[in-house]
Amino acid sequence: MTTRIIVALIGLSIALPSTAQQPQPDPKDTEVWAPEPVRVVPASASTAPSDAVVLFGGKDLREWVAAASPDTPAGWTVKDGVLTVRGGSGDIQTRRLFGDYQLHLEWRVPATLSGTGQARGNSGLFLAATGAGRGYELQILDCATNKTYVNGQAASLYKQFAPLANACAAAGEWQTYDVIWTAPRFGADGALLAPAYVTALHNGVLVQNHAALQGETVYAGKPFYRAHGPAPIKLQDHGDAVSFRNIWVRPL
Ligand code: MG
Repeated sequence: MTTRIIVALIGLSIALPSTAQQPQPDPKDTEVWAPEPVRVVPASASTAPSDAVVLFGGKDLREWVAAASPDTPAGWTVKDGVLTVRGGSGDIQTRRLFGDYQLHLEWRVPATLSGTGQARGNSGLFLAATGAGRGYELQILDCATNKTYVNGQAASLYKQFAPLANACAAAGEWQTYDVIWTAPRFGADGALLAPAYVTALHNGVLVQNHAALQGETVYAGKPFYRAHGPAPIKLQDHGDAVSFRNIWVRPL
């Protein structure tokens, strides 16, 4: 009996293939060749990627309307290729509606400012305008030498997430936002299935990294969601003469 077991074990060990004999995976098996990614000519300093929707290219406001009255043209000023808030005229928003997207925007607060805190070069990029005075705000504000609550400074997701870094340039200089917006998902009954996510770079510096919003922006109280579909993108009139240029979006 014992001899037979030993013989069986020896036989087994002889039968086992060595590592060197095992078939090696073929690297070609994990190569994917199709479908090929769509060819996009990248943006330059002043032009959008070839597949982007240009929201403001320096000429006119044809892509924008008054947020309070979408049948009314946007009332902000366009001069020398630059769009500037006309204080008191109200927020403006895109004619088009968007779901998920990549957006590029350049903004500039006036070189000379008299206010402080939230009253110093305040505007805002509402990533989805969900109604009058509503939406999800990525703050625009002078923050080079301006103290305010950190979840309300430039590049904050207002009252929800402070920026990961303060990448502000001086007042009077052009600054960039590059944003990846993932819209929230709602069920047929309006229940929240997935929150909105925001990744944002300010002047090329990561300031929001897949931040999961708790709801729409609220000035006071706790944020909450209200179901919505594709929505306009909105720029805020907070009374300050903040300027914009080179705004484009790539729906995803
Ligand atoms: Mg604002």
